[in-house]
Amino acid sequence: MPEYETKTLTCPCCELGFETQLVVGYQVGEKDADFCPRYTDGNPLPQFLHVCPGCGFVGFEADYRNLKDAARIRKVIDLLAGLHWQEGQTLGGAERYRRAALIATYCGKRSAEVADLYLQATWCSRMEGEPDDDQKQARRKAVKYFELALSANEFSPDDMPVVHYLLGELHRRLGDAAKARTHFDKLDEFKDVDKWLIEWRDKQRAQITD
Ligand SMILES: [Zn+2]
Repeated sequence: MPEYETKTLTCPCCELGFETQLVVGYQVGEKDADFCPRYTDGNPLPQFLHVCPGCGFVGFEADYRNLKDAARIRKVIDLLAGLHWQEGQTLGGAERYRRAALIATYCGKRSAEVADLYLQATWCSRMEGEPDDDQKQARRKAVKYFELALSANEFSPDDMPVVHYLLGELHRRLGDAAKARTHFDKLDEFKDVDKWLIEWRDKQRAQITD
């Protein structure tokens, strides 16, 4: 089991103080081709996000500290009001990441951060055995936000090969062969790409079916 520590957080939206569990230790083995970690002692991902029992705000521990801008808080409160929260309602991992991604777009987070939340939603969705269509919806949104992040130059040059590899793999999983190839082939334009990444790319590109 992952290790946890109890912590009290205060919600930036409804100001409720509540106890939650912070993940302080976990074990990870290999990774899937879309970088989904294979945890060897249980999936800690859901507990990285904390759900306010009062209003349904979802965020990382740092989000609870960093969301201070009154105008942004107002926008998130309006968003949450439309999501019909029942006090004390519980959320599974995939639901937490999808909700956190949506909230992130109202908090002024970068597209790369929103993309990452949708990507992790697909991982949780798979680990929780949700229907494939639920994974696909979040995967499409991850692709959309990774592409917005690319257009906005949010990634450092060092990260570009990994980003194109990941976009290639996500498009492949969505059945878009042409876009998958375009992103996989992009890796050839960069110098000094890690050998393991080229190997993964070659393996996944060989699995594309038209
Ligand atoms: Zn709250």
